[in-house]
Amino acid sequence: MESTQKRKFNIREIREDFPALRQTVYGKNLIYFDNGATSQKPQFVIDAINRYYSKENANIHRGVHHLSQKATNEYEASRKTIAAYLNAKKDHEIIFTKGTTDSINLVANSFGALLKAGDEIIISAMEHHSNIVPWQMLCERVGCVLRVIPINKKGELIFEEYEKLLNEKTKLVSVTHISNTLGTINPVKKIIASAHNVGAKVLIDGAQSIQHKKIDVQALDCDFYVFSGHKVFGPTGIGILYGKEELLNKMPPYQGGGDMIAKVTFEKTTYNELPFKFEAGTPHIAGAICLGRAIEYLNQFNIEDIEQHELALADYAQDLLLTFEGLHIIGESKNKTSVVSFVVDGVHPFDLGTLLDKQGIAVRTGHHCTQPLMDFYKIPGTVRASFAFYNTKEEIDIFIKAFEKALGMLK
Ligand SMILES: *Cc1c(COP(=O)(O)O)cnc(C)c1O
Repeated sequence: MESTQKRKFNIREIREDFPALRQTVYGKNLIYFDNGATSQKPQFVIDAINRYYSKENANIHRGVHHLSQKATNEYEASRKTIAAYLNAKKDHEIIFTKGTTDSINLVANSFGALLKAGDEIIISAMEHHSNIVPWQMLCERVGCVLRVIPINKKGELIFEEYEKLLNEKTKLVSVTHISNTLGTINPVKKIIASAHNVGAKVLIDGAQSIQHKKIDVQALDCDFYVFSGHKVFGPTGIGILYGKEELLNKMPPYQGGGDMIAKVTFEKTTYNELPFKFEAGTPHIAGAICLGRAIEYLNQFNIEDIEQHELALADYAQDLLLTFEGLHIIGESKNKTSVVSFVVDGVHPFDLGTLLDKQGIAVRTGHHCTQPLMDFYKIPGTVRASFAFYNTKEEIDIFIKAFEKALGMLK
């Protein structure tokens, strides 16, 4: 499917690619606004899953037989597709993991093994729990110190405060590219450059950016970039850790087992080279292959067309929502993606979510795995509508009517 000629952005045709969008919930057409939690899958990916288990299933990297070689080739071709999409220098800088959480845990354990007591790690106040807890666990194990970049009321990192936190003890900065709760797009290029000035490495949590923006890991110059397959129109249970070769080579294995070894004796085991050193055991072969397909699917489009469409949706939704009295948008940065989080005075987000669901509308309510952020705003949670490129203005109109009705019942 790779070609320089990109597919025209035709919303009707795009929607036809996603069978899950053609269903009713409680007798209403499903309106899926929970893309920040997970995305729906195009038929192209579903067919690839079906084809893999129907015709290609075999274990990889071991068999001499035809099927095993076919599965191995597809698995490695997928790595190549993903490396090319991220503009990684080498294919073996792409490690298959279970997802963002698993990728971050890998780095926290493996890169973490190179750290010592007193070393400092910087995260931000808007991180997902999966970019907080692994670092806290590392700090407990090793005696590292965790520092947190504060945010302002609009939900933006305070860059001067970040620069004050950086010093020669800083070993790693681990921040999200885009906040799953606020939609804020962080200035990651600047963040990375400043960290490198003090010799620190940088991990970018790309769980919310890979599906919305063009990612070029060399242009960003990040040391690690991680994301989950399921948020980028691929399967669950598969994700990516990109790491610079030189760094991955210095890091010890995370888990031991098959495939990650060169030679095993009871006296001593030598480890396999990259990327296999970090892929112990039988991986999620179907997931890895089909994540490659999801990236191919996405790559048919101009990502700028996707970005524009989604931003227009978010602006439209936000403007309509702001006409309601007592409604507050949480996350008011000008530099935002297609996430609209809000609270309404005197109304619990959960009640709103439940009433919207009864009208066929899927939104997320709660703390979105960012409890410290909720504490900062002194709220229990928000209602979050998060859009993908297959959503439409017509869906937002229906959502607003449903919202009005739900509010009427609650107020
Ligand atoms: C979803 C998400 C994660 C965790 O991803 P998993 O797929 O649950 O591992 C981490 N960070 C951000 C910003 C996310 O949105």
